[in-house]
Amino acid sequence: MRIRVLGSAAGGGFPQWNCACSNCHRLRHGTFPGFPRTQTQLAWSCASGDCSLVNASPDLRAQIEGTPEFWPQATNRRSPIRNVFLTGVEVDQTLGLLLLREFHSFRIHTTPSVRKILTEDNSLFGALARFTEQASWIDMPLEEPFSAGEAILQVLQLPGSFPGFVSPPRIAELGSGDAVIGLCISPDSGGPKLGFFPAVSCISDTLLKELETCEVLLFDGTFWSDDELARIRGVSRTARQLGHLPIGGPDGTLERLAGLRHLRKIFIHINNTNPILDEESAEHRAVCDSGWEVAWDGMEIRL
Ligand SMILES: [Zn+2]
Repeated sequence: MRIRVLGSAAGGGFPQWNCACSNCHRLRHGTFPGFPRTQTQLAWSCASGDCSLVNASPDLRAQIEGTPEFWPQATNRRSPIRNVFLTGVEVDQTLGLLLLREFHSFRIHTTPSVRKILTEDNSLFGALARFTEQASWIDMPLEEPFSAGEAILQVLQLPGSFPGFVSPPRIAELGSGDAVIGLCISPDSGGPKLGFFPAVSCISDTLLKELETCEVLLFDGTFWSDDELARIRGVSRTARQLGHLPIGGPDGTLERLAGLRHLRKIFIHINNTNPILDEESAEHRAVCDSGWEVAWDGMEIRL
């Protein structure tokens, strides 16, 4: 099984259209020691030729066009994309669903809360219900592993809240137990397990135990420091308040996961402000010296 990283940046991508932070400015002017990145997107293809996506980024159209195995074959209009698994309801995780609306049948696997928000609160998603069996919405089991897309998947519920566009009455009705999840993915024929955790606000001992069962970890690399956005924007909530444990600093991810030595550890969902994108920075060196990799668009992971 080969997992493809089609996009590795946080929401907004790198560079972000309305940002002139040091990273975005230098990238645009050709003086940045690093690469542009599209918004985080994973995918895999099965032996049958069918493909599965993890989340649906706003950059999905370009990400599909850049990956021949996800193109429609021969002369028909049938895309091989059959499944989409959502780990939350943020715009950068769901907007790409609307790009799959061209009279294509596929399955969308979500938590019950995310399904309700998308299908009951947002009439725009009616574009995926123009004919019977266009989009089939499937609630993922929250407690036990399940089989789909020729893989075994397991949901891990994480602390976190819904985005600001979800109405307070809806949040009160739903609770936040399944607002943010991680997904563990392994081949259904058996084999190594990949953990995908793009939004982690804290690492509990329970989560730590789960991470130890993965052979490959794609983990929240959104921010290097807790006050990263505040320093650039002038005012902002901290990384932790935004639902992302920073990589550096006391109790940051590098420190909390320093004991995980046997697995392959990769940061993903990297914000354009993050200094680890600069491959000549001290922060990039610190990440590499700690045994971590930084995900890039086009990266492939074999399981
Ligand atoms: Zn920027």
